[in-house]
Amino acid sequence: MVDYDVIVAGAGTGGSTVAYTLAKRGHSVLLIDSKEREKIGYKTCGDALGSHHLKELKNLIGIPDLPRDIIEYDVAGIDIIAPDRENRLRMTGPTTTGFSFNRHKMGQWFVNLAEGAGAEVRASTRAKKLLFDQDRVSGVRVLTTGESDTDLTARIVIDATGATGMLRRQLPESSPVERVVAKEDMMVAWRDVYETPDYTFDTPEFLEIYWDQDQTPGGYTWVFPQGKNRVNVGLGLMILPGHRKPQEIYDSFVRTTFDFMKTNLVELDSSGGIAPVRRPIDTLVDDNFMLVGDSGAQVNPIHGGGIGSSMLGGAHAGITASEALECNDTSIESLWPYNPRYMESYGIKQASLDVFRWFLLNVTNEEIDFAFKKGIVKADDLLDTSMTGKVRFGTGEKLKRLVAGIGKVPLLMRVNKVAKLMEGIKEVYRKYPNSPAGLADWKKQIEPIYTAAKGLK
Ligand SMILES: Cc1cc2nc3c(=O)[nH]c(=O)nc-3n(C[C@H](O)[C@H](O)[C@H](O)COP(=O)(O)OP(=O)(O)OC[C@H]3O[C@@H](n4cnc5c(N)ncnc54)[C@H](O)[C@@H]3O)c2cc1C
Repeated sequence: MVDYDVIVAGAGTGGSTVAYTLAKRGHSVLLIDSKEREKIGYKTCGDALGSHHLKELKNLIGIPDLPRDIIEYDVAGIDIIAPDRENRLRMTGPTTTGFSFNRHKMGQWFVNLAEGAGAEVRASTRAKKLLFDQDRVSGVRVLTTGESDTDLTARIVIDATGATGMLRRQLPESSPVERVVAKEDMMVAWRDVYETPDYTFDTPEFLEIYWDQDQTPGGYTWVFPQGKNRVNVGLGLMILPGHRKPQEIYDSFVRTTFDFMKTNLVELDSSGGIAPVRRPIDTLVDDNFMLVGDSGAQVNPIHGGGIGSSMLGGAHAGITASEALECNDTSIESLWPYNPRYMESYGIKQASLDVFRWFLLNVTNEEIDFAFKKGIVKADDLLDTSMTGKVRFGTGEKLKRLVAGIGKVPLLMRVNKVAKLMEGIKEVYRKYPNSPAGLADWKKQIEPIYTAAKGLK
């Protein structure tokens, strides 16, 4: 006899979605979060989401529409600004519409959704230790503020604790799940939210992304207005040995660069954060155990957005776990379909964008300025790449002549190489194994592609 069908650790967007999906299907679910109930949802974030994610989730698990009071401003598109600030690319269209939102209210809405569907929510409760019975996950030791440690058992434990992957890291060495995410696959970030009473954003419906490889290698600075007099501004970058910390870059670069930063600012929030920016964890399941959201590295490696994909992961995990519970078999084999389902819907693209991330890291400011100025890259190209994981630009004689000679290895040559590598990794992911037995052999095909991508300089 177990205490719950499923214990979900972490009531963020991923954890709440999986709890909602399972509770709606009639399973007993405990959703715990270390935060106090009224603080769930506070998180360092850019507070922006594409509406296509919600449409997809509505079709998959029937989540209701986001209430209007969560939305700060409707987003029509995104401007990408070159390092020299002289050129910008405006991305518009159905996949760039969305909204900037109130992160705290959104988190509260999600956890209420799970509770409304029947999940038991315990806030101020930390998952401390993964429990095992004969080497298989059997539950979690939890600590609720003001009480003593309690051991709770479940048929499935889901780690949705975010970027720390608190429970994932406690799996035994023999687990096929990678326990550690490499530093080079983590993005570090700093961001503030302000009211700007003396500064008016003229086009708050356009989010701005500033590219500058010297300041934010492998990342960017964002200026996301949340209305005419409110803004979320921050920066994220890859962790590189010897590079400055995000808060230092924020102080020296962001504070001195933007006009609105020199006006009267009412600070609403100021904090740092981390996110995994790699391909998904190679298997998101083990016996009686699943990963959802950041703990499973379900994040877009290029822009670091992970709310939509954590919800998608939560939905697929919930559907698969429900099927496994109904068959009374929660072994790794029975939970395995979650892997191909996630890979098919997002992981293939994610892996391909992870390859692209390594290419982008080694592109110089000079090359980006040149590509923007000469129209080598168009807004549609960038949008297309970020949505599909495909590179379709960089072909044609005119381009070849234009690009020849720039960079150590001409830019065009590298674009062509990365496009092939991205196709290569997608092919590998399309053949994701249909059982755990094929995982080890499948993994061997991944590394050479990433090694080649890292060498594209
Ligand atoms: C600076 C920054 C900006 C970002 N901007 C955007 C953006 O604009 N748009 C976007 O889509 N994505 C953005 N992301 C990514 C996005 O925030 C995450 O991918 C997404 O929130 C992941 O959801 P999650 O449920 O996996 O984790 P989280 O939302 O982090 O939730 C994890 C939950 O687990 C709880 N928890 C942690 N440890 C324990 C424990 N031991 N026991 C119990 N509970 C625990 C936490 O309190 C938290 O509530 C950004 C990330 C960063 C760092």
